[in-house]
Amino acid sequence: MMKVKGIVDYVVNLIYPKRCPVCGRVLKTTTNLNGNIMHEECIEVLEKSLIKEPRCKKCGAELSSLENKLGGFCVRCLRDKPGMANFYYEKGFGLFRYTEEIKQSIKKIKYNSRKEYVDFYGLLLAKKFYKEIADLKVDYLIPVPMYKQKEKIRGYNQATELAKSFSDHLNKNFGVKVEVRCDFVFRGKKTTKLSTKDDEERWMEISGAFYGKDANRELRGKIVCIVDDIYTTGATIIHLSEILKKLGASKVYFATIAIVSNRV
Ligand SMILES: [Zn+2]
Ligand SMILES: [Zn+2]
Repeated sequence: MMKVKGIVDYVVNLIYPKRCPVCGRVLKTTTNLNGNIMHEECIEVLEKSLIKEPRCKKCGAELSSLENKLGGFCVRCLRDKPGMANFYYEKGFGLFRYTEEIKQSIKKIKYNSRKEYVDFYGLLLAKKFYKEIADLKVDYLIPVPMYKQKEKIRGYNQATELAKSFSDHLNKNFGVKVEVRCDFVFRGKKTTKLSTKDDEERWMEISGAFYGKDANRELRGKIVCIVDDIYTTGATIIHLSEILKKLGASKVYFATIAIVSNRV
């Protein structure tokens, strides 16, 4: 006889069928033999999109052979946006290049309310970077804040969900305890859709969009890691790092699902 949990799972699966976090198609079974909750062909897609060595020493993007020869930094980091990128953050950790497949998968989290996909990426982040997070003695994971009204409409902030899942898996699977904190940085004004803007406009728009608050001075001397879905120009991460540093954080890192590089 089917156990109660089995029946509940069966019914839940009928109403909300499990979907592959990569392609979004319904999965016939909830797990395959390897315990993967996705299609075999989608695993291949993920493997192909993984960021390979050599990585940029700063942002962690995959380097072209020319960039590697030029000292191990990507063109974007070398370009060093005046006045902005004296690099408030130390280093970035990302899982994938921003390939078309990864782009589509992240889009589903953001715009199709596929919040459950986030847990898959949270687990991958923990698996790939638990050692770094432990060795660097990261105190807090800080999700990139969303404009309040936007979060209300969407019902969640994907960066917060990702940070929570990352933290859960770090603790559960690797015994690394890092708290998620959403009460230090905030998004103060509505930014228009960034994807429609060019680099310069993006930087202007982001500047001043965030503000920080740390009434109890809990950030002083702390090591933090910002969590977001994509690292594009670096504008968001750099501005947030600046605020976190001003609030007293000693070191800032970032972790993202994808890092846009010249090698897409
Ligand atoms: Zn799939
Ligand atoms: Zn870089």
